[in-house]
Amino acid sequence: MNRYVRQIVFPGLGLVGQKKLAEATVAVVGLGALGSVSANALCRAGIGHLRLIDRDYVEKINLQRQILYNEDDAEKRCPKAVAACRHLSRVNSEIVLEPIVSELGSANIEQMFEKVDLVLDGLDNWETRFLMNEACHRLGIPWIYCAALGAEAMSMNLLPDEKSPCLRCFLSPESGSAAGQSCATAGVLNMATGMIAAIQAAEAVKILAGASEIRKGLLVADLWNNQFKIIQPEKDTDCPVCVHRNYEFLNRSGGSRVMRLCGRNSIQVLPPLPVQLPLEDMAKQLAKNLNDPQKIEVHPFMLNFDDGRNRIQIFQDGRAIIENAQDETDAQAIYSEYVGL
Ligand SMILES: [Zn+2]
Repeated sequence: MNRYVRQIVFPGLGLVGQKKLAEATVAVVGLGALGSVSANALCRAGIGHLRLIDRDYVEKINLQRQILYNEDDAEKRCPKAVAACRHLSRVNSEIVLEPIVSELGSANIEQMFEKVDLVLDGLDNWETRFLMNEACHRLGIPWIYCAALGAEAMSMNLLPDEKSPCLRCFLSPESGSAAGQSCATAGVLNMATGMIAAIQAAEAVKILAGASEIRKGLLVADLWNNQFKIIQPEKDTDCPVCVHRNYEFLNRSGGSRVMRLCGRNSIQVLPPLPVQLPLEDMAKQLAKNLNDPQKIEVHPFMLNFDDGRNRIQIFQDGRAIIENAQDETDAQAIYSEYVGL
């Protein structure tokens, strides 16, 4: 406990609070600009178990704001969850760091949140966020919403008690996606993501330590126009999720198997069934078939190669991310060619 002495002397936390952090399990969902800041803060603060979930790999364009990664990770296209755990294990070897390279969907989300005390939102898409809202409500887990775009950022603690609003009480899936803006079109400043993720991590520590000072309301900040405010969203007495327990996203089976990734020239294809691919064997097979076998790289969770037309990342869970595919149909055809599912 000595390594946390600067936290323990802080009266709000103390030794009792620090011990609660050591016993806690937190899932960080999405390890981009938000998740890499909050995971870093919670690792150093001594959260006992961090489950770090992300579907993607590191690219050079991420380094402007995703503080856990470096040029070497981008060069190797390392999965973010793996790179994050590797870097953080050198920061704090006394906690459990669990990397999960996977897409969060209705079929696996409840398993991912098993024995988790708190979930942090580091997502870049609304569909998964509404799914997370439903899963956390059903499982009775608090979660902390967090989002940033341009120089604006917002965060709110969403607690699973009867009186508190859930995300769906004040945001509808239509309004979320209809905004139609992304980091690719509106840009994003690392100061906005870094600030809001630090605030999210502070609220996480308060919730886990049982502090009474937990913020109520939606914090909205605009760093460019110097505006900071807290809005109090009301609980919707007719909310489909937290009142009627109608879990629309959680009850959806499958969803779309082929999707364009936010702001990128890449299309993700999901497997039709849960699988574990033998990546080493696939790499050997590819080495026989490709013109330039030097372009094949195998990591523990991912196989990555360039067939001269597309760059293709195939993950152990059967997903693939295909760069430069013409459209969704083309991506599906490339997927079938190499994965055979
Ligand atoms: Zn609600």
